[in-house]
Amino acid sequence: MRMPHKSSVPLFWRLKDSKYRLIGSRCTTCKEVFFPKKNLCPVCRRRGSIEDMQFNGNGRIVSYTIVRVPPEGFEKYAPYAVAVIDLEEGARVSGQVVGNITKVRTGKQVRTVFRKIHEDGSDGLINYGLKWEIAE
Ligand SMILES: [Zn+2]
Repeated sequence: MRMPHKSSVPLFWRLKDSKYRLIGSRCTTCKEVFFPKKNLCPVCRRRGSIEDMQFNGNGRIVSYTIVRVPPEGFEKYAPYAVAVIDLEEGARVSGQVVGNITKVRTGKQVRTVFRKIHEDGSDGLINYGLKWEIAE
């Protein structure tokens, strides 16, 4: 019987990790990678063994949309590009691509950048997180 895994890292930092860095997971049985992280491999199920994995932050645009009519609170950022990105290691994510939207193209290489996602005017709350920029 294996001892339950106990992390010495406080919960806050673990949450911060997965939000600010590209921490996903990998099944060491079938080598499948996941982002966001999973606790169970959908392929191997109980035969699988999941471990944390840090992605290098490089990927390629598979498809994208230019958002001209954004959700409430994001008006001042429009127009902006939201892309589906294949990470170098294999998982697929979506996110905002910063910078000149005319440079956003399918097949372009992108990398993660740490940017302000949303600023709430009423209480000054600012959310930070990962966005993407064209790398070439
Ligand atoms: Zn697996």
